[in-house]
Amino acid sequence: MSEHSDIELDEPHEGPVEGDATPDEPTEEELRRRDAALAEVVVYGDPVLRSKASEVREFSQALREEADHMVAIMRDAMGVGLAATQLGVLRRMLVFQAGPDATPTALLNPVIEWSSADLATAAEGCLSLPRVIVDVERPLHVRVSGADIAGEPILIEASGLEARVLQHEIDHLDGVLILDRTERDQRKAALRALREGTSFTPFDEEAEDDDAEPEPAHEGG
Ligand code: ZN
Repeated sequence: MSEHSDIELDEPHEGPVEGDATPDEPTEEELRRRDAALAEVVVYGDPVLRSKASEVREFSQALREEADHMVAIMRDAMGVGLAATQLGVLRRMLVFQAGPDATPTALLNPVIEWSSADLATAAEGCLSLPRVIVDVERPLHVRVSGADIAGEPILIEASGLEARVLQHEIDHLDGVLILDRTERDQRKAALRALREGTSFTPFDEEAEDDDAEPEPAHEGG
């Protein structure tokens, strides 16, 4: 069964995955910090984004500092998730914060233990795919095991946006991008936008189809 979730672009208070976690207009200082953070994120074309990350075996102080750094980048970039791969580090580590009030969490060696048969389609952006948003269908609920930053086992039951963010970031650890999970037409249009340095959102297509007013482009992503 498939249903549309509530995190589409046309909902003004819910941004796409990895983009636009804060609904308010960013200040100039916030925009400056975002640009600095985004400068550290690897973008499409770098082969590291297509590589499989290795399991974390040592839970050191250095790892903790790396996780803190990832959380800082995620927040400054106004994202809701970040995989180590996106900083060029092939380690199975991700951070996520599904919403501005959620606690940022680091997750190591994540494994999707179970996912629901219920699916939902929503628009997703990616910090590594600038100015591109595509529709992605994913299970609505997941159960993810892994370790916390101290190496203690954790189990996360997630739904909605949180489930979507976790699946998106775990994909990164396997070299999988939202381009691989969207429909063919959107993938082609997104690839063209990446090649030409322009933007793509599914609303571009809808605007062409039914002559509707195009949606305003979301920042981040
Ligand atoms: Zn991403």
